[in-house]
Amino acid sequence: MAKETKLRLIKGDITTLSVDAIVNAANSGLMGGGGVDGAIHRAAGPTLLEECRAIVQRDGPCPPGKAVITRAGRLPCRYVIHTVGPIWRGGNQEEDALLASCYRESLVLAERHGCRSVAFPNISTGVYGFPKERAAPIALKAVQEGLSLCPTVEEVFFVCFDEENYRIYQALMQ
Ligand code: ADP
Repeated sequence: MAKETKLRLIKGDITTLSVDAIVNAANSGLMGGGGVDGAIHRAAGPTLLEECRAIVQRDGPCPPGKAVITRAGRLPCRYVIHTVGPIWRGGNQEEDALLASCYRESLVLAERHGCRSVAFPNISTGVYGFPKERAAPIALKAVQEGLSLCPTVEEVFFVCFDEENYRIYQALMQ
């Protein structure tokens, strides 16, 4: 029988979730920063940055649309998947495709590491300026499609921190 993955909507702070993997909206250097990235690094402690540094030293910066995985330091989750969203440049610079790729690549890494539950923030919709109304359906579709390749993943959380994103996802997911 086909597995049914549950998509859930949460309003709140992604760092508090005891899921198998949370996704971080990182930048290419994986050095931490503001927004959700800063919150995740603060809550996880210094081992997260050490692991990120080692990855960049070995493989170079993480390009937009790609993802890497680390352990989670002091966070209650098991893994952090760091993905680099596109910076919004007006919409004709592959932003939509790169954003979808972030969700897909993150799911693939989660699957490869045996994760049954994964939580996503609203990638690129903060400092990177991706319009929220445009990002949400891209995120949902990429996850729904990507899940066909992820038999292990049973539950995906969309975690909205700001009210505007929460309302947009609520309307889309009802
Ligand atoms: P980006 O650079 O990819 O735009 P940001 O961190 O600036 O990343 O914003 C991405 C989204 O993360 C925004 O919608 C913001 O509201 C949200 N966010 C900020 N802090 C948290 C948090 N602690 N948990 C979940 N989402 C968060």
